[in-house]
Amino acid sequence: MSGGESMQPRYEPRGVEERWQRTWEEEGLYNAEPDPDRTPYVDCHPPPNVTGRLHTGHALNLSVGDSLIRWKRMQGFNTLFQPGFDHAGISTQNVVERALIDEGTSRQELGRDAFVERVWEWLHEYGGKILDDFRRIGASLDYRRSRMTMDDGYSRAVMQFFVHLHQRGWIYQANRIINWCPYHETSLSDLELEHEDVDDTLSTIRYPLADGDGYIPIATVRPATIPADVAVAVHPDDERYKHLIGREVIVPWTENRVPVIADERVEVEFGTGALKVTPAHDPTDFEIGRAHNLPEPSCIGPDGRSTAAGLEGLTQGEAGAKILDWCRERDLLEKREHYRHSVAFCERCHSRIEPRISLQWWCSMEQIKQRPLAALRSGEIRYHPESQHRFAIDSLENAPDWCISRQIWWGHQIPAWYCPDGHVTVQLDEPSACGDCGSTELRRETDVLDTWFSSALWPFATLGWPEQTPELAQFYPGNVNTTARDIIRLWENRMIFAGLELMGERPFDDVVIHPTVLAVDGRRMSKSLGNGIDAFEVLERYGADATRYGLLKNSLTQDVRFSYAAIEEGGKLSNKLWNAARLIVIACEGSNAAERPSSLEERWILARLSQTQRQIEGYLGAFDFAHAMDELYHLTFDDFCDWYLEAVKARLYDGDADARATATFALEWLLKLLHPAMPHVTEEIWSYLPARESRLIVAPWPEAGEESEAGALERIQEYAQVFRRSGVVPQLDGDEKRIFDAVVKPDRAPQRENGNVEAERVRLRGEVARGEKMLANERFIANAPADVVAKEREKLERYKRELDAIGG
Ligand SMILES: [Zn+2]
Ligand SMILES: [Zn+2]
Repeated sequence: MSGGESMQPRYEPRGVEERWQRTWEEEGLYNAEPDPDRTPYVDCHPPPNVTGRLHTGHALNLSVGDSLIRWKRMQGFNTLFQPGFDHAGISTQNVVERALIDEGTSRQELGRDAFVERVWEWLHEYGGKILDDFRRIGASLDYRRSRMTMDDGYSRAVMQFFVHLHQRGWIYQANRIINWCPYHETSLSDLELEHEDVDDTLSTIRYPLADGDGYIPIATVRPATIPADVAVAVHPDDERYKHLIGREVIVPWTENRVPVIADERVEVEFGTGALKVTPAHDPTDFEIGRAHNLPEPSCIGPDGRSTAAGLEGLTQGEAGAKILDWCRERDLLEKREHYRHSVAFCERCHSRIEPRISLQWWCSMEQIKQRPLAALRSGEIRYHPESQHRFAIDSLENAPDWCISRQIWWGHQIPAWYCPDGHVTVQLDEPSACGDCGSTELRRETDVLDTWFSSALWPFATLGWPEQTPELAQFYPGNVNTTARDIIRLWENRMIFAGLELMGERPFDDVVIHPTVLAVDGRRMSKSLGNGIDAFEVLERYGADATRYGLLKNSLTQDVRFSYAAIEEGGKLSNKLWNAARLIVIACEGSNAAERPSSLEERWILARLSQTQRQIEGYLGAFDFAHAMDELYHLTFDDFCDWYLEAVKARLYDGDADARATATFALEWLLKLLHPAMPHVTEEIWSYLPARESRLIVAPWPEAGEESEAGALERIQEYAQVFRRSGVVPQLDGDEKRIFDAVVKPDRAPQRENGNVEAERVRLRGEVARGEKMLANERFIANAPADVVAKEREKLERYKRELDAIGG
């Protein structure tokens, strides 16, 4: 063993944490191997973007996942904490495109194959750094098993998924309106958008009635879309326009005649209450257009510029201005006014999103969602907290068909081939001829799949599926998945239906939705507000243990402000634990851990360890990390350090063999309970304890024992409070007196004023009177819950004892 002398007087996480992170990984202690004789416990960690770096959301998610994994590992489960990355289609493509622009070239100049080659080169050099960040927080992922959604084997799984869904008849192509980035020239998912309030101008334009009988005024912020207007819609109950339904108006600029139609989707309060309908460039207009069988001409190209006759190539601002001039000359521009509204931008390039009709590949949700819905409704799979379970069900019930195609180059190219006659052949490998007509002139679809299409397979494609590997047999289905609520729709629900569909079994039992960490000011962290927290800086400054503890402690609700105080509390806890452990290591050098309690404080601390362990197990089992941290803090700080150790210290120094053995035993126990949340400081202390054959990370989780004496120090603790308020030393004898004197040190306390005694007497008399009155109230006794009444009685008894102790 190492002597206690070598334990530094002050704990310094820097260096120590990195050393344990290296050691655990080098010794293979994070590794998971298939073993049919052991029960597995699996958490497939959400794959971060391969281009990403650690942020506070990751740090919290890892703290949650790793605490569960470390706890289960100590309980003897064959744990797999699966790491890896998402190929992050658009964000990776964007990073590499920017590098190319800096070099004076472009993706288009390079061509597709050379570009994809460049992306791989870039990834080999710069990608995947985020796993080093994950190591730095102490996440015990099996890093050997890291996968990326673009790996060869994984890509094969993605192709198989697509072909499977296609054979089921659940994949189709259709022209629909989608979010379109004019810079990236691709469709985007809702998650890839940023919404911002912008200042705009609302123009009210007169649409003349075709029969010359007046006009309908219409307000729009996008005059550039006027050339693609195909109707004017009004609400069927709008008295202002009822008589115009069925007549025709003339669209400015194009001078096309279009019908006035009635539709309940029109907002009567917006603008003039009449809506120009442009199905190709607005989602609501698109719906109205489909409902009324209207044509869907477009006037804005994929690059965001106008394609309208006479406006070709102009930006939308330029085209809109020309149309407004045209209206002004004809007295059709009624007014222009300032208008502030929310607009969607591409999160990568900040281009304004163009809703656009285009031909995309879709996955029909109607049938595929039925099994996951049944699994969620029955509770076979459960989201935590309950509110998120309901949200997950709602979002599946209302899931629209999924746009799975993207018009970018980095990703899984869709396995569909077209012949000159337009037949589509879908299969795993390149076909030699068209499945319909036998033509050998085949052209592969250029679109790639949405990144979420591949990450939906994460729980089993990482284990080798579609190959039947030993890993797949042992580690699927998994147990738990932890993540943020904004990807329930995009990822969690899709993993559930992919797992049920392809594997026939749910991918996990529980989904833990951790809180969203807000900035200190309570707003969402954002670059533009400059209120973000740099997760590295926090790790550097406080260490991984304190960060993990603080994030978990501060995770009680679904939206939490980042709390430095909680992290500082974690730091204090590490130091307090270190100092207590150092005292025990030095005083007990040479004595092995053994359970030989012979005194009140020893029986009490063992009972408290048992009691708290059961509480912690309950909280961790219910994914309530905030309360688990509370219990650990109280157990370590108050019970172990302030009471037990102070009480037993003299006996340790006196060389009492039983006291030394028991102290070592109790410390080992405490370290085990703390390890899942604070792995580094506990492993470091463990290495100084005698006869250590194994690492703490793989030490067996203790068995909680007898806890009947967990309240044995209550009376002394009450008297300590009375003494601290009043200076009155209680009448105690035996063990109680010894413990009181050792912990409270009344002889060393400064003489406080006599007035304190009187003030304390007054306070306690008041409390006794209040309690007696309340318990004499029959209505209170009859109506209050039994445990509230019992608590009041207990309190009254306590106040009476305390009053007694200071002489009434
Ligand atoms: Zn973009
Ligand atoms: Zn054909």
